Amino acid sequence: MSATREEKLSESKVETLCLLDVDGTLTGRAGRECVTSELYKSLQKNPDDSYHKAEFINHNKMVSKLIVGLKLKENMTMGLAPNAKNFLITMIKKGAAIHLITKNRAEYVKALFEAEGLSENQIKHFKFSDVNSNKSKYGAAEDAVQKHMENRSLKYVIVCDDNTEDFRSMEYATKEDAAEIEINGKDAWFSSQLYGGNVIGRNSEPGKFNFPDILKELIKLEAAAAKEPLNKASMFKAPEKQQDIAPSDELQRLTIK
Ligand SMILES: [Mg+2]
Repeated sequence: MSATREEKLSESKVETLCLLDVDGTLTGRAGRECVTSELYKSLQKNPDDSYHKAEFINHNKMVSKLIVGLKLKENMTMGLAPNAKNFLITMIKKGAAIHLITKNRAEYVKALFEAEGLSENQIKHFKFSDVNSNKSKYGAAEDAVQKHMENRSLKYVIVCDDNTEDFRSMEYATKEDAAEIEINGKDAWFSSQLYGGNVIGRNSEPGKFNFPDILKELIKLEAAAAKEPLNKASMFKAPEKQQDIAPSDELQRLTIK
C-alpha cells in the first residue's frame, strides 16, 4: 500500500524515530512468557499451535478478553508498563515516527493497546514489524532508519529493547553506514551523526524502562540543538579549501611593516 500525500508530508518532517520492542519493553513481561501464557492462548482459535501460527479470535473479542484478563493478578505484567502509555502518547503528539519491532504478533499488540485504552487513531500511528514480517530486528530497524533519513529531517533515534542482543542489533542499524565512514578517525558514535541522528538507546530488564528519563534526554537534546545555530549538516560539510598560495600583495602590504 503506498503512502498518501498527507502521510508523505507528515513523514517528511519527522525529527524523531522510535524503534521499540513491545514485550518486556512497553509491557512488563518478556516475549516468551507472554506468548505461552494462559491469557495469550485464550485468544487463539488454535491454542495448541505456536504463537507465530496463531489464528486469533476476532479483534473485538480479543480486546474484551484482554480487558478482563489483564485485571487478574497473574496477568498484570502483560499490560503496558507504568509510563509506557504516556510515553507513546507524548511521542505521537510530538509527531515522532514509531516503529514497533516485535517478535510477537501485530494483531495481538493492537488488541492489547486497545484494551489498555489507546484510541484507534493512536494505534494507527504505529508501524509494525512482527514475527511474520520476514525481517530480522536489525533489518526492520535499518529499513526504518534509511526510510526516514531520506527525509533529511531526522535528528533523533530512540532504541529500546529488553533483549540485549536485539537491542544491540537495532542500535547498530542506526550506525552501520556511519561506521563504514571514518572522519579523521572518529568512532562510529560520532560519525553516526552523519545520519543527523543522535541515538538514545536503552536495554533494561523487562518492565524496568525509565520512559520519563528517555523523554527528558530527548528534550535536552532538542533544547541543545535549538541553541546551536550550526546545524548538523553544515558540521559535516567538506572543509573549505585551504589557501595554500602565498599571501596576496595586498595582504603583505598590510601585515609586513
Ligand atoms: Mg522483548
